[in-house]
Amino acid sequence: MKELRDYREEIERCVRCGTCRSVCPTLDTVRRESHCARGRLALIEAYLNGEELGERYMKYIKECTLCGACYSSCPNEINTPEIVLSARAEYVKKNGLPPLTTFTLKSLLEPAPLTKLALRVVTKLKGLLFKSTSFENGLVSRFSLPVVGEGRLVPEPADPFFLDRAHIRAISDRKDYGKLKVGFFVGCGINYLLPSIGESTVRVLEQAGINVVVPQEQVCCGIPALSMGDTRTAKRVMSKNLEVFEQYGFERIVTSCATCGHTLKSIFRVVLGNEPGMKERVEEFTRKIRDITEFLVDELDYSGQKGEKKGVVTYHDPCHLRRFQGISEQPRRLLEESPYEFRGMKNPCRCCGLGGGVSLTNYELSMKIAERKAENIKRCGADVVATACPGCIVQLKDALYHHNVRAKVVHVVELL
Ligand code: SF4
Ligand code: SF4
Repeated sequence: MKELRDYREEIERCVRCGTCRSVCPTLDTVRRESHCARGRLALIEAYLNGEELGERYMKYIKECTLCGACYSSCPNEINTPEIVLSARAEYVKKNGLPPLTTFTLKSLLEPAPLTKLALRVVTKLKGLLFKSTSFENGLVSRFSLPVVGEGRLVPEPADPFFLDRAHIRAISDRKDYGKLKVGFFVGCGINYLLPSIGESTVRVLEQAGINVVVPQEQVCCGIPALSMGDTRTAKRVMSKNLEVFEQYGFERIVTSCATCGHTLKSIFRVVLGNEPGMKERVEEFTRKIRDITEFLVDELDYSGQKGEKKGVVTYHDPCHLRRFQGISEQPRRLLEESPYEFRGMKNPCRCCGLGGGVSLTNYELSMKIAERKAENIKRCGADVVATACPGCIVQLKDALYHHNVRAKVVHVVELL
């Protein structure tokens, strides 16, 4: 991964035009220059010119959702999200991570029995730690819990986890591939919290003639660690996934998580591409990655069952799908094939506020960003909100719960 100083030339391309100010969800919420790409780049430049990298400076760097809206609108193509990731990595290299973050990353991102144990304890103690709500069958934290905070609506942990289910274990090395040899990269959101997305992905692919393989040894994609500035852990889990998926010789690797998809397609290059002997392996791997909506529409020409419509569905564009992968038409095409009538919402590609770890580092800011999204969903009047990222689903459910908007939130693939 490039060092922060290697971005100096790119940072100096900022002509302070302010175009990024009109699209940044954090500036729109906080209304301070420090909370847009121009302000963040100015702070990083000051640091490169010798100013101290203190906690106050880091607050602004940590409160970037990495949504990429600035990058897509910048006339000089400055990749602020990548520069922000590098600034976070530089800070962690110098100052280390808080012990709780180190513990959480270690236990969640690597195939540690601790993750399972921690989530099982949460399941057992859920009556004590959380209130149940009929809203989306979620749990609401009663007091300020580590990682979760207070008052947040979270999905009940999967029981068993997706990768531990007997029928998923049974297809971890199947030989009857069907049309194409395709692997499924699951990701933590689906594995630990929203296994129904994984079940739907396997079902829809099988209906389309693909007997997908789900490698058991896969681990987290690495982006949570990288977002926290922990490059070492990110590198380790990314290398592990590369090794696991290489062994199978897949023709395609499909994911139903927009964030995992962006990480596997692009961030792998940033983190591992310049490591000795890795360039070609990484290129070969990233070339095979497909988002499920992209794969179904572009390569399998998927068509659903036409029939009577049950209600209205709208669509939220995950930043990591629309901006970073250029995928926006495919999920909408699939929704036209679903048993719902499609109705667009205002500003569907505005960030939901979850990204960049902001929902963990500043939950209040993250929820304020999500408020506008909840209003747009309410105005649209849809019964169902579909999206293509488990992280966005968790965030949207929480935002709709807090604003009493009774729309169900699902992944596109669950409606097929
Ligand atoms: S749009 Fe680009 S060049 Fe203009 S102020 Fe923002 S980062 Fe700088
Ligand atoms: S990535 Fe998003 S939140 Fe971060 S500076 Fe750019 S527009 Fe703002």
